[in-house]
Amino acid sequence: MVIVMAPDATPDSIDSLVDLVAAAGGEAYVTRGVSRTIIGLVGDVQQFETLDLRAKPGVSDVLRISVPYKLVSRENHVSRSVVRVQGVPIGGDNMTVIAGPCAVETPEQTLEAARMAGAAGASLLRGGAYKPRTSPYAFQGLGETGLKILSEVREETGLPIVTEVVDAADVELVATYADMLQIGTRNMQNFALLQAAGEAGKPVLLKRGMNATIEEWLMAAEYIAQRGNLDVVLCERGIRTFEKATRNTLDISAVPVAQRLSHLPVIVDPSHSGGRRDLVLPLSRAAIAVGADGIIVDVHPEPENALCDGPQALVDEDVAELADMAGTLSALVGRTLTPAPQREPVRT
Ligand code: PEP
Ligand code: MN
Repeated sequence: MVIVMAPDATPDSIDSLVDLVAAAGGEAYVTRGVSRTIIGLVGDVQQFETLDLRAKPGVSDVLRISVPYKLVSRENHVSRSVVRVQGVPIGGDNMTVIAGPCAVETPEQTLEAARMAGAAGASLLRGGAYKPRTSPYAFQGLGETGLKILSEVREETGLPIVTEVVDAADVELVATYADMLQIGTRNMQNFALLQAAGEAGKPVLLKRGMNATIEEWLMAAEYIAQRGNLDVVLCERGIRTFEKATRNTLDISAVPVAQRLSHLPVIVDPSHSGGRRDLVLPLSRAAIAVGADGIIVDVHPEPENALCDGPQALVDEDVAELADMAGTLSALVGRTLTPAPQREPVRT
């Protein structure tokens, strides 16, 4: 059971609920979030029912939820959520394209990739400054220098930034630059990172662990929500199977399954799942057709020289085709391609 407190609930009203639950033999876990306080109850539900919690001061709602992921579940939140990143919507009737380089390498490469992202129909720019690499000898990202490059490119193009954070200790720093924090497949069950991201006050893009079940993925989202941040977007990015023809296997059915279980938007990464440029358009088509709320796509001006994931990056010749396809197919499934944010031209 979950008690959702009203935004103006007083500390006293929260304390007295905790005491009431304790007196009834239960335990109450208080989560003070950015926008609201949530109290999770553990114990005998029948007993809690007798307490008339809904009528207590400061209580906005009391949710009885049977699944273990309570806050992200659709059980008591039937309508699907829209998450806004600097006003750019993900979810609802929108189809949102996020695009950019796998990694930030130089200011020129990032700006050029952002231009390609715009041509691909993107309304958000992706780009990693902290790269979670399988090999410790591979390029690990530029760190804060990369974040600065991203914010300069945002200044220039107006595209809000989605960027990965790999360590709980970096969340505060990354959140000062990022418009949306990305948590990657390798960190989906890094619980300290999930909790820190839940407290950072920025929307979170949560990729599915390559070995994770859908329920584990939703439980990971619950860690973020439990810290008071419900602005979470789920991203299916392929799972490990016996198949070697693709880097991972895009679990396309995970999209409608997760959308039925959770109110959170669900997007697809056709680049990291297939790991191959020639699969990005077909997998993007599949994602939009199946009802995904968006796609996140790698682009690079010179993939042959990319420091990370060049073989899957779309090139200049591909981006217009992606934008055309995304616009046409979105309309066919009753969605609108999210436009890039309007902004004043940069004066030089
Ligand atoms: C990425 O998007 O840059 C990335 C590393 O993705 P994933 O965590 O899905 O491998
Ligand atoms: Mn990558």
